[in-house]
Amino acid sequence: MSSDPDCIFCKIVAGKIPAKKVYEDAELLAFHDIHPWAPVHILLIPKQHVATLYDAGPEHEALFGRMLGLAPRLMRELGVLDGFRTVVNTGRNGGQEVFHVHMHVMGGPRPWAKG
Ligand code: AMP
Ligand code: ZN
Repeated sequence: MSSDPDCIFCKIVAGKIPAKKVYEDAELLAFHDIHPWAPVHILLIPKQHVATLYDAGPEHEALFGRMLGLAPRLMRELGVLDGFRTVVNTGRNGGQEVFHVHMHVMGGPRPWAKG
């Protein structure tokens, strides 16, 4: 599985830095964002290193489909039943700061810090 030793999310996958994990399987990992914008704010990532959505090819379609399918399940499990927001920032002008693809999944009572 591709991994980048300098990537902070690869380090979380490898257990080298801690995270508050909410879900894990062979391909995907979900954990709480360290600076939440909403009462519940998790990041859902592929375990393999894919820097941005620009780097995703047809071989990743099933993986990203699984990420989208998992989002509502995890929100339900976390007690978020009234709606949630999903965001995938891509590249510098997309506001991406960590260059390992991640889906922000945010919910809970408003107002939120952003949005
Ligand atoms: P983005 O701007 O879409 O690249 O978002 C990166 C997100 O990763 C931000 O919301 C950060 O708060 C979050 N983040 C960065 N480092 C960590 C970490 N070690 N554990 C959890 N979340 C992190
Ligand atoms: Zn990575």
